[in-house]
Amino acid sequence: MPKNITIIGAGIVGIATASYLRRDGHEVTVVDMRPPGEYTSFGNAGILSPGSCVPQALPGVLSKVPGYLSDPLGPLAIRPAHFIKALPWFLRLVLASRRSRVEQIADALRPLLQQTFEAYAPLVEHAKVSDLIRQTGYTVAYSSRAAFERDALPWQLRRERGVLIEELDRDGIAEKVPQLGNGYEVGLFLPEQGFVRNPERLTKALATRLQQDGGRILQRKVLDIEIGPDGPRALVTDAGNLAVETLIICAGSHSNEFTAKFGDKVPLEAERGYHVTYSDPSVTLPMPVFLPQYKVFVTPMEMGLRIAGQSEFAGNGAEPNYGRADVLEKQMQQIFPGISGVDATKWMGRRPSMPDSLPVIGPASRLPNVYYAFGHGHIGLCGGAPSGRALADLIAGRTPTVDLQPFRVTRF
Ligand SMILES: Cc1cc2nc3c(=O)[nH]c(=O)nc-3n(C[C@H](O)[C@H](O)[C@H](O)COP(=O)(O)OP(=O)(O)OC[C@H]3O[C@@H](n4cnc5c(N)ncnc54)[C@H](O)[C@@H]3O)c2cc1C
Repeated sequence: MPKNITIIGAGIVGIATASYLRRDGHEVTVVDMRPPGEYTSFGNAGILSPGSCVPQALPGVLSKVPGYLSDPLGPLAIRPAHFIKALPWFLRLVLASRRSRVEQIADALRPLLQQTFEAYAPLVEHAKVSDLIRQTGYTVAYSSRAAFERDALPWQLRRERGVLIEELDRDGIAEKVPQLGNGYEVGLFLPEQGFVRNPERLTKALATRLQQDGGRILQRKVLDIEIGPDGPRALVTDAGNLAVETLIICAGSHSNEFTAKFGDKVPLEAERGYHVTYSDPSVTLPMPVFLPQYKVFVTPMEMGLRIAGQSEFAGNGAEPNYGRADVLEKQMQQIFPGISGVDATKWMGRRPSMPDSLPVIGPASRLPNVYYAFGHGHIGLCGGAPSGRALADLIAGRTPTVDLQPFRVTRF
């Protein structure tokens, strides 16, 4: 039975979800104050990684934080004014870093992300943008064997869940990515991974196709939600009220502003990250590379080479601190000495991050006709299409091909 479904959020998660629902014949309206793909889904590193099943917090996380925070070129920053507010979230993160919990999280994420390429395929084919997706694999380059050995656990967790990982020596790294030079002692090649050549164009192309297929996209800010005895009745927007029947929250790092109205308190932080994109044609790469010493990905986008990384906790509303992007610029000069930054562009985005690195996918806890798909943190591009497909299955009464229990909103 086709339903009338409204989605708040036109990022990759909202648009992929809308696309799958429209394929099922539902009437779909997406509401966003910005054009599709112009918030966090705009400028990520583009990595599609079926193997990214390892949570952000691993055993021993606490011992690493002081080192990261005291290093001005380090990957982590917490604004003092935000620290107290975010403290409960950090405590949950530490709780989630226990070995037994880490294993459970990896068990939950792997089947979801394993579907990444397969779940995007019908959407990009239909939108005629299959060229945006490349399954080249990616290379990880460690400067020393000692650094590689310190990272043994995350690679073990991936291998135990069937992720293909090939170890490379200096010559192997040079063969895969000659542009990296010979300053790296140990490398890894993950052949099943890949990337999107332009994440913004991907979201926009799927959104355009959705509209051609009869879906609606309304550019409005949602200010409030009117709730009746049977669930949500209307969205209160800056352009008047909009009646709703079934509602899905895909509002990225703002999603908890809405779930709270439905009685679902969700620990969600805007984990801010940055990118710098270089148009210098003298450095191109055959595939993305990950540099663990900086915790950055460098990805060959269609608009140039993009370095992306950094984790900054300052709240949703704080102004960007482009000093964090300057850190990325310094690192880029170390990785590719002499790369021209003449036309380099800088960007900040807000990862919708849950303390246990698991998104929320599934029904609201109390109200009927309300569903959630948000909180994908570092893996929202990978997880967008699989999450959208799972939610469409759920709404259609089909059994999702992924177990959604670990992603339930009531887990906290
Ligand atoms: C530097 C960086 C690198 C990253 N690299 C990768 C990567 O390589 N691979 C990967 O898988 N993921 C990566 N990510 C994470 C990924 O980008 C996010 O998880 C993903 O974009 C989240 O998508 P989303 O649709 O949930 O949220 P968003 O793209 O943030 O979309 C949410 C939408 O909700 C709208 N909205 C919010 N509030 C309202 C309101 N009141 N009214 C109307 N609309 C509203 C916003 O305008 C926005 O358009 C990276 C993130 C960053 C910052």
